[in-house]
Amino acid sequence: MAKQKRLFWNLYPTYIFISALCLISVGFYFSIVMKKFFLDNTVKDLQARSEILLYQFKPILFDGKILDDKCKQIGKASSTRITVILPLGKVIGDSDENPDNMEDHSTRYEIKKALKGDIGVSTRYSPTLKLTMMYVAKPIFGEDKKILGALRVSIPVSAIYERLSLIQSRIIFIGLIAVFFAAIIGWIIARRISLPIEEIQKGSDNFAKGNLDYNIFVQGAYEVVSLADSMNLMASNLNDKIKTVKSQRNELQTILSTLVEAVIAIDMHEKIISFNNSALKMLQIKDNNLKGRILVEAIRSSEMERFVKKAFISVIPLSEVITVQIKDEVILKAYSAPLNDDKDIRIGTVFFLYDITRLVYLENIRRDFTLNILHEIKTPVTAIKGFIETIQDNPSDDPQETQKFFNIISRQFDRLIEIVEVLVSLSKIEDETEKNIIELKEYSLNEVIIEAINKSKEKADGKDIKIEFNPDNELSAKINPKLLCRAILNLFDNAIKYSKQGGYVDVSIYKHDSEILINLKDQGIGIEQEHIPRIFERFYRIDKSRSRERGGAGLGLAIVKHIINAHGGYISVESNVGKGSLFTIHIPKLNSENT
Ligand code: ADP
Repeated sequence: MAKQKRLFWNLYPTYIFISALCLISVGFYFSIVMKKFFLDNTVKDLQARSEILLYQFKPILFDGKILDDKCKQIGKASSTRITVILPLGKVIGDSDENPDNMEDHSTRYEIKKALKGDIGVSTRYSPTLKLTMMYVAKPIFGEDKKILGALRVSIPVSAIYERLSLIQSRIIFIGLIAVFFAAIIGWIIARRISLPIEEIQKGSDNFAKGNLDYNIFVQGAYEVVSLADSMNLMASNLNDKIKTVKSQRNELQTILSTLVEAVIAIDMHEKIISFNNSALKMLQIKDNNLKGRILVEAIRSSEMERFVKKAFISVIPLSEVITVQIKDEVILKAYSAPLNDDKDIRIGTVFFLYDITRLVYLENIRRDFTLNILHEIKTPVTAIKGFIETIQDNPSDDPQETQKFFNIISRQFDRLIEIVEVLVSLSKIEDETEKNIIELKEYSLNEVIIEAINKSKEKADGKDIKIEFNPDNELSAKINPKLLCRAILNLFDNAIKYSKQGGYVDVSIYKHDSEILINLKDQGIGIEQEHIPRIFERFYRIDKSRSRERGGAGLGLAIVKHIINAHGGYISVESNVGKGSLFTIHIPKLNSENT
């Protein structure tokens, strides 16, 4: 686009041009009028002079010498050239020359006219006088209206022309001054017109750049001020509307970002138009530049793709449980609803995804727990019932055999009671932890560990396993010694249970950052990585038959976990199959005073 001239440079030169044109036109017209006025006045003056001379010359018309002298006398006195000519063109009197030396004048324009009875006027250069002269000739009538001759008076007009040129130069001078002032006034007027327009243009530039707080301030014509006011009002209204929209968007954004559910909206091309942080977290998408990407490409899950396609063509809300394989398997409760604009025209689809992986996981644990508890109770109960029926149906005379059956029944009862007791104490610990009423007291951790070692000694000796503990520091913490001893005892039990004959169990205790760590390291069979997250669940056993045959019900580690939780800590496991396991009890130092 060609560079546009500024308004000022459009207005100002035009103004100067118009002013100069007006002044030149007026000056030109004025000088013409002046010239005409002067010449007309001269003609009238010469006519008046000739009229007076006619009265003086008529009586002496035929007295050649007297007439000529009179011409010379009056001509000199009045600075006028006076010439008297007979009808045939003969000059009989002249104020400046000797008439006898003068040529025939009948061919002169003004004389011709005068001899015909009219007034003749002519302006021309006189070679005789070498001047431009104005001639006025009048007829001299006799008694019977007969033309007796012509009287011609003339004066040089160069004086008039000189005066006229003086007047013209003054007009030009005054015109130039007028143009100068017109230029100044024009500059002021052009600035007055262009400045408010420039200010309005500056304001509209600001508005266009989004600076809607800008206020256009102009002074000047009503229309310009009104225009500026209207633009200010328009910008302020727009600003208010944008602020409202922004705050509504922010509110919505805040609500969306605080939602646990993932919210994703897509357009009619399945491209993502909006999403919240939960969506990124839930679907483990690192790149938050999701906008504009195709949803199914961003998530890459066949189940999700199927649900999106279904939702895309559905006019009603849908809900489904879908499993998405991201890094791990994530189970989602997915809801979809059509997304319509304010005219109720569909513009896309919105999805709400609720991560129910943990819910499903907990539900599975609950189901497993119920099945396990039933199974664990059912086994001894069935055995007890079986032996009682055997005794009832086939009473034996051999008291030894009967005693053997009773012993089995008694062992099964013990097992039943043990399971029930463990479950009861688990619930109790859980309950007391929740209510925060577990009694904690400052106690030596070494003492607790030594007590647990002593209690495990018999079992350890039975498998020729050495428990090594070298306390190098007397550490104490706020603990429940009985419960913590039970937890450590359970860990020793397992370490011994899942180790071969011989071997070591190393126990160590030390401070680390804000925690006290108790490590129990065995050289047993180890635990496969996949089982580690589940071994603390109630009744969870890796190898059910092996565990049962070693007397385990899968409740030992559940108790440990709950006891450590009751101390505000947690337990972690590292294990290598075939090499051994390391169980670490983490107790927060807050519980410890002797640091
Ligand atoms: P259980 O009564 O079966 O021992 P636990 O809750 O104590 O139940 O342990 C759960 C499972 O964890 C056990 O069945 C066993 O497979 C595994 N486990 C626990 N401690 C160890 C260990 N020190 N070495 C190897 N496996 C272990």
